[in-house]
Amino acid sequence: MKKLTIGFLIIIAALYGLWQLSNARTFQVAGKLISHVQLAATDSLVALTFDDGPTPGYTDEVLHILDQYEVPATFFVTGKETETNIREARKIVRAGHQLGNHSYSHQPMILKSYDFLVNEVERTDQAIRSAGFKGEIYFRPPYCKKLFLLPWVLSRRNQVSVTWDIEPESVAGVNDSAQKMASHTVQKVKPGSIILLHVMYEAREKSRKSLPLIIEKLKQKGYQFVTVKKLIGEGTGGV
Ligand SMILES: [Zn+2]
Repeated sequence: MKKLTIGFLIIIAALYGLWQLSNARTFQVAGKLISHVQLAATDSLVALTFDDGPTPGYTDEVLHILDQYEVPATFFVTGKETETNIREARKIVRAGHQLGNHSYSHQPMILKSYDFLVNEVERTDQAIRSAGFKGEIYFRPPYCKKLFLLPWVLSRRNQVSVTWDIEPESVAGVNDSAQKMASHTVQKVKPGSIILLHVMYEAREKSRKSLPLIIEKLKQKGYQFVTVKKLIGEGTGGV
């Protein structure tokens, strides 16, 4: 009986460990993962990143805000939405922003076959190329979910995973207002930070409203916005 209990506890601990690993923002088992870039304290560069989309409803609005403040950003788009809304994807590229791969169908990329994962990554890369984006394509896993196979697929393709270190939408007590999300971001940000926002769907009005506030407040503090590619290029290690 005792042995059974111990065995059961070991299995629970192992499952918990795997679950933690699958969600880790700063670690994966293979390939390169970047959640922020190591910069000198005086090197006040940050990257704004947007997940999901592009959508016809909100791409223009977001591009307009970025254009107003002359701020470049990085959009992690899904292959499916990029194919469907290729005009919006092209607008993002034409405006000088970076596109990244956020999978094709936006499912958690765990417990999937090798072929499924390769297809998700490749189809989305193709959609991003059809939108006219020419640079290196980074990958951001949906829900930050990955275990063994996805990192391996990406490392074989030499594709870098990019997560984030600032995520105001997920902080309880902060995510109920645009103002609080902006203040939280300013409090937590440091040189080399990668900020995550979702701005492409109707329910994300607060995030869209927080965007100009975040930009203004960070500019006031002397921060300069760059794409993730540029941020990584400025880092001490580079890619
Ligand atoms: Zn997403």
